[in-house]
Amino acid sequence: MAIEVGILGATGMVGQQFIALLANHPWFKVSWLGASERSAGKAYRDACAWRLPVPLLDDVAKMSVNAAVPSGAPKLVFSGLDSSVAGEIEGAFAKADHVIVSNTRNYRMDADVPLLIPEVNGDHLALLKTQAAARGWKGCIVTNPNCVVVVYAMALAPLRQFGLKASIITTLQAISGAGYPGVPSWDILGNVIPHIGGEEEKVETEPKKILGTFKNGEVEFHPVRISATTTRVPVQNGHSESISVGLEQKPTADAIIDAWTSFTSKPQELGLPTAPPRPIVYRREANRPQPLLDVNRDGGMTVTVGRLRECPLFDYKFMALGHNTIRGAAGAAILNAELMHSEGLL
Ligand code: NAP
Repeated sequence: MAIEVGILGATGMVGQQFIALLANHPWFKVSWLGASERSAGKAYRDACAWRLPVPLLDDVAKMSVNAAVPSGAPKLVFSGLDSSVAGEIEGAFAKADHVIVSNTRNYRMDADVPLLIPEVNGDHLALLKTQAAARGWKGCIVTNPNCVVVVYAMALAPLRQFGLKASIITTLQAISGAGYPGVPSWDILGNVIPHIGGEEEKVETEPKKILGTFKNGEVEFHPVRISATTTRVPVQNGHSESISVGLEQKPTADAIIDAWTSFTSKPQELGLPTAPPRPIVYRREANRPQPLLDVNRDGGMTVTVGRLRECPLFDYKFMALGHNTIRGAAGAAILNAELMHSEGLL
């Protein structure tokens, strides 16, 4: 029997992606939608400006949008809420015995909250053993990383074996990452915006937690030092990332490519429905990865890397690309919930 799920922030960019990705999901069925007071009481089709190139199914289009309060919501609730309100609302749902699988930044760095990429740190789910008791919650919160960080941490994870020391990253981020209606067209068309509020701090901190080790009931952060510059570019979907890495050992370029292409983990072993067959794909062509050509590989769940070459300052540099609202948001949260279900945590 299908597991009923709710979506908080259902009308936003990430909320729409949840609805699209869950339309034919073998385990989960959307039965509840929540958003702001502006949308509450309206039919979903009237409350949201549907922005995805797949049809909005009639059974969801007709559903009534609820206010973002726990009563009536199913046990499992995905969240794509605006971060200005997510802290309070998600906390209220967790307190009222809901399992919140969230995209927002509010709880990501809390010591007792898993910041999860199932292929990288599924064992961090063990933080849930103490979370509810410590906070007086009946339910729990699990988060996925910032949309740049999912791609970045996945590209870095297989390099830990070479003694990952330091990294510089410069991003070229899609406009869908700013929600809807997002950045005004006058600001972004034919332009590059060299600042995204709060983004560099997230990119410099979240990977340390994700790449860290679960030990004695807590996550010991990875020591990698990171310097980030984040920019917005006129691309619809897909964050591109130019990355340099300093390593303790200097492997051959082939050893790095091998580490990426042989990288699989629990979601692949368990055959989770949203897991891509190969989480990281390396493209050998000099002009890849490109958002237009590579972002939708395996339903947008794959990280594509390319252009691995020597770096005159660090050891190596390369490009990485991932879909920001799928692998970087809704798809990431759905994969988290699939792992939780397969581990008996729902
Ligand atoms: P968005 O398009 O602006 O959508 C925001 C959602 O939050 C809407 O459903 C909105 O409902 C709801 N909301 C706003 N104020 C509310 C309130 N007071 N009470 C209840 N609901 C409220 O944003 P988005 O791009 O989907 O991002 C959603 C979250 O995911 C953000 O925290 C963002 O940082 C994170 N995220 C986004 C991406 C991405 O690539 N876009 C990637 C990773 C993480 P109404 O329509 O009723 O206003």
